[in-house]
Amino acid sequence: MKLICIGRNYAAHIDELQNERPTEPVVFIKPDSAILPKEQDFYIPDFSQDIHYEVELLVKIKKVGKHIAQQFAHKYYDEIGLGIDFTARDLQSQLKAKGLPWEKAKGFDGAAVIGKWNPKEKYENLDNLRFSLLKNGEKVQSGSTSLMLWKIDELIAHVSTYFMLKKGDILFTGTPSGVGRVSRNDYLQGWIENEELFSVNVR
Ligand code: ZN
Repeated sequence: MKLICIGRNYAAHIDELQNERPTEPVVFIKPDSAILPKEQDFYIPDFSQDIHYEVELLVKIKKVGKHIAQQFAHKYYDEIGLGIDFTARDLQSQLKAKGLPWEKAKGFDGAAVIGKWNPKEKYENLDNLRFSLLKNGEKVQSGSTSLMLWKIDELIAHVSTYFMLKKGDILFTGTPSGVGRVSRNDYLQGWIENEELFSVNVR
């Protein structure tokens, strides 16, 4: 399976990193080896001094599809989750400056936290879902899918133009503003509406 990730999907986050607004979604892939095993702590890798959290709404693909039309995209997923796209920001900045791919900064072991899944029917309106990240009990990121530049169904239509979607693939839909550094012994918790979907210790 693969993790298909969207960059620059929230205007406020684009501004905080002083990136240009894209005319179509920024897409990258994390390998399945990036998934942090359940209940395991996240270890800051030696090659970075600036690991950032990015909380993101997740969508789990339920069947094979390619060239999926936006109006049929909803038939291809039935579970919603929340996770973290851990990013070695220092390394990513170096790679970006050289025009090189981001994989080392985004796809390293443990760089994808995936929380509990809920059936999408649990939520009244997927295009107006609030989610947040707490660091050591303090809210550091909060977002709403209503602020996405490209909504879930648009993203599925777009990415399936390039990548065949397979059952079990996971879409990371981009992070809202408020990204920041993690330090050893930080404790992160992710929430959708009033439910905690993951917690992770940083080591
Ligand atoms: Zn991200």
